[in-house]
Amino acid sequence: MIRACILLLALAASTLFAQPTRRTQNVVILMTDGLRWQEVFSGADAALMDRKAGGVADAAALRDQFWRATPEDRRAALLPFFWSSAARQGQVFGDRSLRSEARVTNGLYFSYPGYSETFCGVADPRIDSNEKRYNPNLNVLEFLHRRPGFEGRVAAFGAWELFPWILNAPRTGLLVNAGYEPLRLPENNARIELLNALKAETEYWDSEAFDSFTFHTALEYLRANKPRVLAILLGETDEWAHAGRYDLYLKSARRVDEYARRLWETLQSMPEYRGSTTLILATDHGRGADRKTWRSHGRRIPESQYIWMAFLGPDTRPLGVRENTAPVTQAQLAATIAAFLGEDFRIAVPAAAAPVRDVLPQ
Ligand SMILES: [Zn+2]
Repeated sequence: MIRACILLLALAASTLFAQPTRRTQNVVILMTDGLRWQEVFSGADAALMDRKAGGVADAAALRDQFWRATPEDRRAALLPFFWSSAARQGQVFGDRSLRSEARVTNGLYFSYPGYSETFCGVADPRIDSNEKRYNPNLNVLEFLHRRPGFEGRVAAFGAWELFPWILNAPRTGLLVNAGYEPLRLPENNARIELLNALKAETEYWDSEAFDSFTFHTALEYLRANKPRVLAILLGETDEWAHAGRYDLYLKSARRVDEYARRLWETLQSMPEYRGSTTLILATDHGRGADRKTWRSHGRRIPESQYIWMAFLGPDTRPLGVRENTAPVTQAQLAATIAAFLGEDFRIAVPAAAAPVRDVLPQ
């Protein structure tokens, strides 16, 4: 009997120790709207760097900044942090030239369905417009917000004003600061008050603030409130592409990369986050591939189903740019975010896509 007990204990211990150790305690998601996989993996596109196709005012200056002889040098000029960190110390999916495909599964390839698929883990056919309708689906931010240890420690900052609807802020009680809405918290510091004022006074697009206001507001919030889950959702890459301004699209992408660097360096400088935070970089949809269609996206442009995603943190093996992988989908992001934190999103949403196993502790 005693021998049987010892055997059982040994078995229990071996299964316990067989569990991979997980170091992630916090997840930060940084998305930029409609940034093509073509630029992420090959940098600036020669076919679009002119006045006719790309609305480029000063092509020589743009080439100086972003044109290099090889795709590797071009992408490093466009996204230096991405290519020196995530692509070396983390994992990147979506380089179709290496047979690594990342796809949107909602069939619509525009923003509300894309963010809904990202955070809810399912492509819901009811989500078929960018109108201000509250999302009926449970999202992973809301799911985590209800879990012990996460209450009040989950927040989202979006440049686009739709996020309170996409993430159903009134139902979920999540902090969702979006569009031109000021961040109003009792503990607001003078920097947040100034950002609120500048954002209100610098209007260009009707439904989207400039990325700088959204990013810096989120960074101030991060420093002061130390959320465990933070989503920062930027939009200029999509706006400038629709406007036909390839120069400003590239400059926005370059700035998002700089934001990713600042975010990562800030996280590594804070004891609450250092060595225990996973950063996920992603986009909500692709765009057309040629001189005519690059500005746009949607179901009439099948190319816009292709996206990219990157993972950087203490639990993700440094496999870099993935080659010859099974396709990954946007819908997998929700369960992946939860799994990094030791939570199973599919208990709450059985229809949600499975996590991306390769980036989780093995
Ligand atoms: Zn768009």
